[in-house]
Amino acid sequence: MRLLRPAALALAAMAAAAPARAAVNVVTTTADLADLAAQVGGDRVKVESLARGYQDPHYVEAKPSFILRLAKADLLVVVGRELEIGWLPPLVQQSRNARIQPGASGYLDASLTARILEIPTGQITRAMGDVHPQGNPHYWLDPGNGRHIAKAVADKLSRMAPGDAAYFASRYAEFDRRLAEAEKRWDALMAPYRGLKIVTYHRSWANLTDRFGLNVIGYVEPRPGIPPSPAHTLDLIAEMKRQGVKILVVEPYFDLKTPNSIARETGAQVVVLPPSVGGEKAITDFIGLFDYDLDLLVRAIRQTGAK
Ligand SMILES: [Zn+2]
Repeated sequence: MRLLRPAALALAAMAAAAPARAAVNVVTTTADLADLAAQVGGDRVKVESLARGYQDPHYVEAKPSFILRLAKADLLVVVGRELEIGWLPPLVQQSRNARIQPGASGYLDASLTARILEIPTGQITRAMGDVHPQGNPHYWLDPGNGRHIAKAVADKLSRMAPGDAAYFASRYAEFDRRLAEAEKRWDALMAPYRGLKIVTYHRSWANLTDRFGLNVIGYVEPRPGIPPSPAHTLDLIAEMKRQGVKILVVEPYFDLKTPNSIARETGAQVVVLPPSVGGEKAITDFIGLFDYDLDLLVRAIRQTGAK
């Protein structure tokens, strides 16, 4: 034993001196992508989101710190479909980080493997004011798309850090298992409300309502990104009365003035639903986002007696 001890000490010293495997530095545009990246990346990644979950992801105020964070990133994960077009491109350019420029190996557009709804068939231009010219960019609000995003990130990380590929694969498998378990719970919760008619402020909920069989019959915005107009609001009120719509879903970053006046006219209940992780303190991860929103939605449906 006495003879072995110096060798053991030498080995321990070598281990201590060996540099720790550097974590992949991941920056995401939104908190939802950050959580999904953290789920599969575990302790082999360092993940930061630029936008906060309570901000409108179309319109995020750029801070100088964003450029510094982008400059250090190994991997940038974006929602894509032009969701971030109003704020991200100049920041990526100014970061002067060749690794994360669009098309580079450290740039991941999460929409590429996701199921995208509302892809326009005719020609849609931003001149018309539409902020969804490439289909609905709020696609993370479908648990199935969360799975696709997590898989895309795991695959990308495995290519960037091949030595950790087995680790990322097992983290993904564990997330997939927990998500499938949660989906059973959500399907059971939502089953009685299939076909229920609702109205939403912005077109944020296409994937969520499609997944759980709700029927969105109208929007407070005349077009995505265009504020409510008196004429459109009057039409919407008439339609909600005609179809007996009692639920009006509003994202937390919109003014409640118009939704409240619509609710007064129609007897509908305004439900403020956060569309992202961190939209409320209680929503700390992707699975928790659906737990929170579906619970709130179902409680409102039951209160209004809507069915
Ligand atoms: Zn939108």
